[in-house]
Amino acid sequence: MNPRRDAAELARTLEELDGRGYKAYKTVQGTWHFGVFTLHVDHVQGDPFADPSRVRVVVPPSEAGLPGGAYAGASRAVGTAAYLARRFAAAARAASRRIGTGRGGEIRMEDPGQKVLPQTAVLVGTDGGVEARFTVGLPAAGRRILGRAASELLTRTVPALVAEVLLAGAHDADEVERHAATNEDADALRAEVERRGLVAFVADGARLPRRSGVDDRPLRDEPGGTRVVPFRSPESLRVRIPTPNSGEIAGMGIPPGITLVVGGGFHGKSTLLRALEAGVYNHRPGDGRERVVSIRDAVKVRAEDGRAVTGVDISPFIGTLPQGRDTSFFSTPNASGSTSQAAAIMEALESGARALLIDEDTSATNFMIRDRRMQELVPKASEPITPFVDQARKLYAACDVSCVLVLGGSGDYLDVADTVIRMNAYLAEEVTEEAREVARRFPTGRESEAGRPVATPPPRRLPAGALNPERGRRPVHVKVPDARTLVFGQEVVDVVAVEQIVARAQLRALGLALAHVARVSKERGGLTVREALDAVDRLLEQDGLDGLDPRRPGNLFSFRRHELAAILNRLRTLRVVPG
Ligand code: ADP
Ligand code: MG
Repeated sequence: MNPRRDAAELARTLEELDGRGYKAYKTVQGTWHFGVFTLHVDHVQGDPFADPSRVRVVVPPSEAGLPGGAYAGASRAVGTAAYLARRFAAAARAASRRIGTGRGGEIRMEDPGQKVLPQTAVLVGTDGGVEARFTVGLPAAGRRILGRAASELLTRTVPALVAEVLLAGAHDADEVERHAATNEDADALRAEVERRGLVAFVADGARLPRRSGVDDRPLRDEPGGTRVVPFRSPESLRVRIPTPNSGEIAGMGIPPGITLVVGGGFHGKSTLLRALEAGVYNHRPGDGRERVVSIRDAVKVRAEDGRAVTGVDISPFIGTLPQGRDTSFFSTPNASGSTSQAAAIMEALESGARALLIDEDTSATNFMIRDRRMQELVPKASEPITPFVDQARKLYAACDVSCVLVLGGSGDYLDVADTVIRMNAYLAEEVTEEAREVARRFPTGRESEAGRPVATPPPRRLPAGALNPERGRRPVHVKVPDARTLVFGQEVVDVVAVEQIVARAQLRALGLALAHVARVSKERGGLTVREALDAVDRLLEQDGLDGLDPRRPGNLFSFRRHELAAILNRLRTLRVVPG
């Protein structure tokens, strides 16, 4: 008779494995009953240096004991899940001990950091049940199993972590409520911003600056040093939006159309724009940006010289190139600043952007402006570029795509702006009228240039074999050595310039989504880029992130179609044909 696979049996099994070859660990694969929860050992690593073993802990609603508010609706469940994942990840870090060879003794959960988005590390069900996914490095000395250490790890340390973070007694009901409610409010704010036709909302009191360029946590006040200036909306742009949990929130509503953010250097312009870029995602309570929301389809675009561009119609911005090269189906393995920025805008239109976020710090000057003197010195006939300043209004009129532009250097944009916000020592002022007056008094003298009309670009088609996720014997090879590098099949994709990709786990999910596109494309004998993005959206809607990988890993974060398009468009092996 099979003994019941309980914790005692697991401990016995592991101790009996002591001293045997590493492969014998495979026998613990499967389900173990711990009374208050179930442990699933989904995958046992092949050796001590391989990716650690994947496990899941499933806690039924009665044992999880979450307050009802924690999972009343999808927004709340996502907020609660991110909170639990953050806590479990921290507790796991603290409980990890290096034991023996390789990564033995390491317990690791993917940490959502400041962001709150659907992820697979912790799932909170509609019934209040909790599933936690993490990895455990099974310990060995050389290639010999350390059975007693493994038993300690799986039957003592893991249950202690579960008790500390996931079981009924562990929850601070007020904290859980704060995380659930904050996320519900953020979703409600975004929905209302979209309903009102605004581009973004920045609540009064928001704290926008980050600790550093590589640290997403909020900048702290330093005693006697820098003080964070909380955001305050200019009176003229202040809107009030009701929320389910915090009453009416006041803040700056960025209206549709062309909005300029001007101001002196170091006065907080880029910080505001970066908050808007991040505002397509939700943030944890205490982040400072938990009430900063942008519409879901707000896309950062920038220059990225050296990137590959494949079959993009950039003709509205870049006309015929030297030697008569046509730009309505433009490809290059090595784009210039201006062609890369033009491509980024057309690609964003293809993926369905409703607003573009642009910072002069990361733009190509010759793409943004061409002043009076340059127009004189370099006649239009020998300048393929129609600068963005002459196309921004048409883009809004023809495609209903708004723009938020950070500009400190070019006053030529004052002529095309609907709204002008001036940052002054981190305080926002609305100076639209003043800017109009300045524009009247000091005409630029430049001729506006007429490029091809901007319109949603013509469809591009991925032929059946256009994407290949295979490598060696693996049908799908997706690796993320770091948060800025994706290995997809044979190819290495650099996403340093795709600023709205915010986590390694998100990049991993994007790689798997690309593999899904390859599959669908093969099945259907090819599909357009837009159909490819739709296919992934549909998969995520139906099966969630687990649809991307049947092994149900705990290291996937959700993403938007715009990030998927950004990756697809950066593949150096991409092949497309006109749609
Ligand atoms: P700009 O783009 O106008 O040159 P940045 O947005 O890069 O300026 O900001 C300059 C510096 O000021 C950054 O180090 C940033 O962290 C800091 N900063 C931005 N906003 C605030 C604020 N509200 N309070 C305090 N410091 C801020
Ligand atoms: Mg700046």
